Amino acid sequence: MSNTKAYYGQFGGQYVSESLMNTLAEVDAAFEEAIHDPEFLKQYHYYLKQYVGRETPLYFAERLSEKYGTRIYLKREDLNHTGAHKINNVIGQILLAKRMGKTKVIAETGAGQHGVATATGAALFNMECTVYMGAEDIERQKLNVMRMEMLGATVVPVHSGSNTLKDATNEAIRTWAKTAEDTFYIIGSAVGPYPYPKMVKEFQSCISREAKRQFAQEVGGLPDVVMACVGGGSNSIGMFADFIEEKDVRLIGVEAAGLGIETGKHASAMALGKPGVLHGMKSYLLQDDDGNVQLAHSISAGLDYPGVGPEHAYLKDSGRAEYVSITDVEAMDALMELCKLEGIIPAIESAHAMAYAFQLAKEMTPEQSIIVCLSGRGDKDVNTIADYLAGKGYLN
Ligand SMILES: *Cc1c(COP(=O)(O)O)cnc(C)c1O
Repeated sequence: MSNTKAYYGQFGGQYVSESLMNTLAEVDAAFEEAIHDPEFLKQYHYYLKQYVGRETPLYFAERLSEKYGTRIYLKREDLNHTGAHKINNVIGQILLAKRMGKTKVIAETGAGQHGVATATGAALFNMECTVYMGAEDIERQKLNVMRMEMLGATVVPVHSGSNTLKDATNEAIRTWAKTAEDTFYIIGSAVGPYPYPKMVKEFQSCISREAKRQFAQEVGGLPDVVMACVGGGSNSIGMFADFIEEKDVRLIGVEAAGLGIETGKHASAMALGKPGVLHGMKSYLLQDDDGNVQLAHSISAGLDYPGVGPEHAYLKDSGRAEYVSITDVEAMDALMELCKLEGIIPAIESAHAMAYAFQLAKEMTPEQSIIVCLSGRGDKDVNTIADYLAGKGYLN
């Protein structure tokens, strides 16, 4: 491919049908123009502040820090409107869609969080919204389906493959190829064909921009470690962005090890995946020996993706960032710690990052510090948490 900008080392690219190549070039040109236009940036920051509720606090978790023996700070993305970081990206992409004169948006969703964020933005900016969702996920995530419908979106069930996120994404890409004239495709993570990984990083980098400034002001200097969970990789790339150039800061991405990497039931594309092509990009993917994409497993629906964004694949190979895995059990233990010690119910996704922070803290001194991206709140997970605790004999 001639467009070398589209690559992160050997990863990324634009593995899409010929008919979408022009569309992607248009999106890229519009994006580059927009992020250099002070008027666009003013609008974007206006909605981040007045609608999303930014900036989010960088909270010093005093009791956790005392217990685990190093300074632990939480970047509180759970306090954003709609309860997670996803809205940062949706606001950016919808403003871009409007600027390009589009009247409709489509999105894929797995657990429903990106679907809810997109439906929210579509209501705010008066865009017609269709969300593609695997038939099985619709069954599992009824509450989020109701939310999307209340917000005025149409949720389209996808009956193909495993009836989950991977299949919903394929359907959204297929639909977009036919409707791009008036429709913008809002991708929910740092994945997909170029320029999506770049756009999503830009719209999520408010996380690290704020955190870096807040840390410098409130604590001084730089943190020793910055950490986030990795599904497709959007909250993590946002948390890493402004620290990538700071070579003394360790960057750690935490994937889901599900029932344990050795069981085959996990979502650790970085630990065990091989380079392959999915959803328009080349990256690390969970696949069998014949190259068929495998189903990911995690107790957290948001980490249940068989791939990872291409820039993460590159950051891993170049050695700049480290990637580790945390099991369902470790994540749920960490989740309960955060509830009991800090009065915060985190999303199960975010609890994976917390769990690794607790493990790493043992190797750190009381003067050192970790920033953990608390990507979302756990209200959406209360049923899953209750089922898990009942199984463990805590609740009955
Ligand atoms: C969707 C989601 C994630 C995983 O997605 P990334 O793109 O990897 O950030 C993590 N946390 C929460 C709360 C989510 O909703």
